[in-house]
Amino acid sequence: MGPDQALYVVATPIGNLADMVPRAVEVLQCADLVAAEDTRHSQRLFSHFDIDTPLVAYHDHSDDQRTARIIERLEAGETVALISDAGTPLISDPGYRLVREARNRGIRVVPVPGACAFVAALSAAGLPSDRFTFEGFLPAKSGARARTLEQLAGEERTMVFYEAPHRVADTLDAMAEAFGEHREAVIARELTKAFETFHMAPLAELAAWVRADSNQQRGEIVLMVRGAERKAGATLDDESQRVMKLLMAELPPKRAAAVAAEITGVNKKVLYNWGLEQK
Ligand code: SAM
Repeated sequence: MGPDQALYVVATPIGNLADMVPRAVEVLQCADLVAAEDTRHSQRLFSHFDIDTPLVAYHDHSDDQRTARIIERLEAGETVALISDAGTPLISDPGYRLVREARNRGIRVVPVPGACAFVAALSAAGLPSDRFTFEGFLPAKSGARARTLEQLAGEERTMVFYEAPHRVADTLDAMAEAFGEHREAVIARELTKAFETFHMAPLAELAAWVRADSNQQRGEIVLMVRGAERKAGATLDDESQRVMKLLMAELPPKRAAAVAAEITGVNKKVLYNWGLEQK
């Protein structure tokens, strides 16, 4: 029996074909249609797993008509699977418009999870992973990249980036400039493939290490950077700070903290300590 009628969002391997999950093979074999980022690229995956389901090209620049035709087939009761060249669709890959349109029309959308480069990288990097931010690709132009990095300088969560090999050395230099040369970072390269590499070092050292070895400027790359050290006082959100400032102009800190706690719901002691730090 084939999969139930729906749009299936199917992850495919990021290098090692043995990472293809059995459910993904089954869904792709049984679907009526597979929408793929690059049909020629996906043909290789299909040959390997004996899949002969018809393929159509789909990317986010596809015209509305192409999205509409896929939606029509879903509404006619067909099963469609969406794949990208590698990894999980919609993660720095096409699919958002199709998924959004399917959901708007009440069509069931089912994920078939599997490989994703940033999850694999983070899971083995040795940087804090309890909270992180996935930034995808940085802007290609150096000015825009520097501005984006500047905005991230105070980010306290581990930051995860995708980067093209010919830009990795320049990006690491720009990160050292924006975040400080001592900030710890990890490069994860060619995950699940023959030359899989992880290397952790402070940003300036990591940039020099990558520059000194052209092999590190090849293949597919995830960069991860430790978040900024937490600053005293940074624990209070902007609105609570505003309320505390207004109240402290009129009341002693203890009373200001008590009233602010009523207004904001933030713990009285946290507000009081913040108030004392402002003196
Ligand atoms: N959708 C994919 C995913 O789930 O990870 C990402 C697609 S994005 C267009 C391609 C980027 O992902 C590459 O430039 C690289 O930054 C990262 N990537 C993909 N495969 C990788 C691998 N095997 N090792 C390291 N990074 C990889």
